[in-house]
Amino acid sequence: MKDDKHIKDWLNAFQLDHPLVIAGPCSAETEEQVLRIAHQLKETDTSVMRAGIWKPRTRPGNFEGVGAIGLDWLKKAKEETGLKIATEVANKTHVDLALKADVDLLWIGARSTVSPFIVQEIADALKGTDKIVLVKNPVNPDLALWLGAVERLYSAGIRNLGVIHRGFSTYEKIKYRNNPEWQIAVDLQNNFPDLPLFVDPSHIAGDRKLVFDICQTALDLNYDGLMVETHHTPDKAWSDAAQQITPKALEQMTADLKIRKKGGETAFNEKLMALRSKIDVVDDQIFEAISKRMKIVDQIGDLKKENNVAILQPERWNAILKRLTTHGHDIDLSEEFTNRFLKAIHQESIQHQHHIINKKQK
Ligand code: PEP
Ligand code: MN
Repeated sequence: MKDDKHIKDWLNAFQLDHPLVIAGPCSAETEEQVLRIAHQLKETDTSVMRAGIWKPRTRPGNFEGVGAIGLDWLKKAKEETGLKIATEVANKTHVDLALKADVDLLWIGARSTVSPFIVQEIADALKGTDKIVLVKNPVNPDLALWLGAVERLYSAGIRNLGVIHRGFSTYEKIKYRNNPEWQIAVDLQNNFPDLPLFVDPSHIAGDRKLVFDICQTALDLNYDGLMVETHHTPDKAWSDAAQQITPKALEQMTADLKIRKKGGETAFNEKLMALRSKIDVVDDQIFEAISKRMKIVDQIGDLKKENNVAILQPERWNAILKRLTTHGHDIDLSEEFTNRFLKAIHQESIQHQHHIINKKQK
């Protein structure tokens, strides 16, 4: 798969001068809803309409999809608008029904990618198909599991492949519904530069206000397209209401996104911008890691305060310095840099603890 230059052929066949847009509701709800959204999407840059008909829900009791009847509605949407159609498949029955309905693009959901048994069952059912198959990242941040799923499909003779980055679960509450962890997608790009890569900003965000920025970051990182949850009345959607946008908002968004047209810039500039975006991703990680450190430092501050222990503990500081100078040396960081960097962090940590102790004394 690694050296297969043809893996992008299906995407090139769309002959677009912009990234591929896949859009549509989280779930097909009624025939009228599917057709109405399809006609509105027809007026946008959308090439493929998505709609979930079998919905994996984290907890039972929520809307679990309309089932196979939704395939008839999607077929009708295709006939009326010419849009290609896409749905999620999670077992052999889904695949058989979707292929029978001539669905153009099938995707494997994040909760299925985690299970090699399920992925193998889907790959076997799809054997040799010329339909497009996209694999969402698994819910847990595991690049090997994600690639493993793609490899199972490739081994089943499926060639029109791609991946969708939809972020990763965290137990910690963060600003996103699913943590993007951009570095994982960047690593995937570095390993498989020809494998089409899409972003699903909706499931990363969980909130429509964040969708635009996530798309822009993905485009800056040279992603090949977007899968955006889109609904004519998002707030009334039967699933994922908070993250869906209207087709009109999608149209505005694709107009506002800065899209680097192929050949529009010099190769040098393109490469430079892509590398700078990668640096931005790493810088954000460094900052988030430092913020995590400060939160732990605050907890230690509380503990020291409760036990009436001095903030500065020189032997602990010397041990940190010694351990990380050796580590720094191993990863090609100069001793001088390691020293200055750690001192700055240490200083900030001490200030944090001072702040905590003073605040509590008032
Ligand atoms: C979806 O696309 O509606 C969906 C269920 O996504 P995920 O598998 O990424 O959770
Ligand atoms: Mn959804």
